[in-house]
Amino acid sequence: MIYQGLAAKAIAETGVDQAEALAIINTPDSELLSLLTAAERIRRHFHGNKVKLCGIINAKSGRCSENCSFCAQSAHHQTDCRVYPLLSEKELVAAAKSAEKNMSATCFSFVTSGKTIHSDSELRTLNSALTTISRETDLNRCVSLGTLTLEQIKQLKNSGLKRLHHNLETAESFFGKMCTTHTYQDRVRTIKLAKEAGLEVCSGGIFGLGETNEQRVELAFALKELAVKSVPINILNPVPGTPAAKTSKSLTPIEVLKLIAAYRFILPAQDIGVFGGRERSLGSLQPLMFIAGANVTLIGDYLTTKGQTPEQDLKMIRELGLEVEG
Ligand code: SF4
Repeated sequence: MIYQGLAAKAIAETGVDQAEALAIINTPDSELLSLLTAAERIRRHFHGNKVKLCGIINAKSGRCSENCSFCAQSAHHQTDCRVYPLLSEKELVAAAKSAEKNMSATCFSFVTSGKTIHSDSELRTLNSALTTISRETDLNRCVSLGTLTLEQIKQLKNSGLKRLHHNLETAESFFGKMCTTHTYQDRVRTIKLAKEAGLEVCSGGIFGLGETNEQRVELAFALKELAVKSVPINILNPVPGTPAAKTSKSLTPIEVLKLIAAYRFILPAQDIGVFGGRERSLGSLQPLMFIAGANVTLIGDYLTTKGQTPEQDLKMIRELGLEVEG
């Protein structure tokens, strides 16, 4: 395949078409390096040698009413995930400041378990923390709070929120196998409300649940249609006790690189992040995620699992000749 020709098309025409995307994600292993070189050209065209780092905090953990098959925090699954209520404003602000100062994070997100925010008092705490972080840091402020109303989103925006994170998680055609307590359309609705309120949207998915390459491409085109700003790619880290741990189909490191590259060709200008599961799924090929097209990653720990240390991540970025966006 002529990957450089497709890269030129992706740059000039804001992306490749579905058939081309499928061919890219199914690239023969023998052509991997040609694919990566072309994907890197697209990344460099739109993002130069800059990498963005997102930090998160699991602001409320466990006992979620929903049954997402991969999630350790669902009350439907028997896991040993920690359970605690919403952290205090002081704890949320301290975590954000530490991510900026100690980990060079450029964006910080409060992530809560549950279908939505459950009380006015939770919303007040989140609003107060956002106001303080807006005043006392240079961080891009993000939250991931499940399904929200337009009124709730507007309140958060008035407190300094810039970006809403809400993953579609998987293709519409696979969604019913991943979750039955809410719908794909519920997630689309929250994304549309965030855009209506004037927020940036960060939305992506989790891979390795048993979905096909066609469904991985289907998800990317759905995200393109929704014009999201940033697309996080998570690779399943199977947690014992979750249904996905029994049904998952692990991606090889090379399959993960092809997936990242396909997303870069489909969504050439967007931020593409590789977040959860990168250490486990990519192993020693981890630095290649940036060559495959990623320009964002998560620094520090994930929601319920540990990441590699911030020092290791910053060293990896430096050694690739990349720079953290200030
Ligand atoms: S992914 Fe979110 S909505 Fe789904 S079970 Fe986990 S915390 Fe609940």
